[in-house]
Amino acid sequence: MERACENCGTPDDELLQVRRVYMDPDQPGEVIETEEIPELWCISCTTQYPHLAADA
Ligand SMILES: [Zn+2]
Repeated sequence: MERACENCGTPDDELLQVRRVYMDPDQPGEVIETEEIPELWCISCTTQYPHLAADA
């Protein structure tokens, strides 16, 4: 079974379960909202986009 990153769509075996967070562009470091539903992201995306680990 081929898996793909749910953020960028790149097929990858090494995916991490995360919850996307939305940052406030006017207040760096401030989280506006956390996505309820976990997504599977590739390593590359987890280094580029804000998120929380969702391994539970
Ligand atoms: Zn990705």
